[in-house]
Amino acid sequence: MFPARRTDVSVDEAPGRSAPGPRGVPAQLASGSYPIKESDMIDHRRLGRDLELFVSDPLAGAGLPIWLPAGAAARHAVEEYVRELERRAGYRHVYSPPLGKRELFELSGHLGYFADDMFPPMRLSADDEFVLRPALCPHHALVFRARGRSYRELPLRVAEIGGMYRAERSGVLGGLSRVRAISLNDAHNFCALEQVGDEVREILRLIREAHAALGVRPAGFRLSLRGPGEKYVGADADWARAEELLRAALDGVDYDEGPGEAAFYGPKIDIQIVDAAGRESTISTVQLDFDKPERFDLSYTDADGRRKRPVMVHRSLVGSMERLFAYLIEVHAGAFPAWYAPVQLVVLPVDDGQADAAVDLCGRAEAAGLRAEVDLAGSLGARIRDASRRKVPYVGVVGRREAADGSVALRLRDGRGLDPLPAAGALALIGAVVAARSADLLPAG
Ligand SMILES: [Zn+2]
Repeated sequence: MFPARRTDVSVDEAPGRSAPGPRGVPAQLASGSYPIKESDMIDHRRLGRDLELFVSDPLAGAGLPIWLPAGAAARHAVEEYVRELERRAGYRHVYSPPLGKRELFELSGHLGYFADDMFPPMRLSADDEFVLRPALCPHHALVFRARGRSYRELPLRVAEIGGMYRAERSGVLGGLSRVRAISLNDAHNFCALEQVGDEVREILRLIREAHAALGVRPAGFRLSLRGPGEKYVGADADWARAEELLRAALDGVDYDEGPGEAAFYGPKIDIQIVDAAGRESTISTVQLDFDKPERFDLSYTDADGRRKRPVMVHRSLVGSMERLFAYLIEVHAGAFPAWYAPVQLVVLPVDDGQADAAVDLCGRAEAAGLRAEVDLAGSLGARIRDASRRKVPYVGVVGRREAADGSVALRLRDGRGLDPLPAAGALALIGAVVAARSADLLPAG
């Protein structure tokens, strides 16, 4: 994505908007510069500390949080899910470096339009300068350009959860919601103009699927269009066609229009969320771009043998991992669905006599692919309270009778308790909920 103006909201940059939100959020609350008061802190920073998800250490630098093992485990599960969803939808994943030659970002236009939001270039020698990238698009354009392309390969969907950097001022940084090092769930879909409608519809379907699995509740859809008095690239006919395609893809969806909020290279659909402090931001986006294919001279050979320019669709299903988790931590109050809970099962022996049986059950859970721990120290009540404080979805209690017959009594995070089950049945139950990516802690039916 490549925002032309600082006011331009794309998923990989400004976390707040100045316009009133769909829930009537006042402008000053919707602004990213709104100072967060201690009283507003149901917020993810406190939960992130309490649940040991991430840490912000001044020695590492503001806006450069470190993901701790619990946060990393949850993020890993989400990244795996997103990659699998994309793979099934025909995306090809790549890895590209988070820095590149100055000339790459001159060609892309970032150094011309966006330098204020980038870290200063790093000079190795007089003619060798490197830039920390503010977006992934330039590298993905080079993936398309790596060899000649045929119309048969389109749409070519290049995806990556990739690192990028923004030189945000230190005063606006906080927790995971506004950071300087960003891991974006990004993709660039290169397609023929006549494929754009179906492509955008399919992207919107994937966005809905990802939101449902993760527990994201969008506050609204916005179609961001050209407005008067701004500079835009591309032919009027292309813009008209692109707007028509986006409108058609939004058929049946409730959406606002944002005149003047398009990217300078094309119109876009933004999907908004509102955080616990009432600030609105973009979590998912679909942007049509006629400019970068020109800048990078991208082309494919059409069925008639002629060279044609593809359209570049920038899209993010769930935004950056940082902003996504800032939101998910708050919306679930730290109690993630079982499939991405950092620890899914804690096994508690009632007393030392069942320690071996508890360790054995934990090992079986891990062998079944679950994230499990044993807690041996302290009274049973204190260990149950600790698992509850940590929002662990399943606690498996092993008493004398359970140890003897190889069963376990499951207690669910929401307070429900199950009669003792054979260990294999208990692990199968948890495995079924995890595999279904269900929000409930019991299998359906
Ligand atoms: Zn992009």
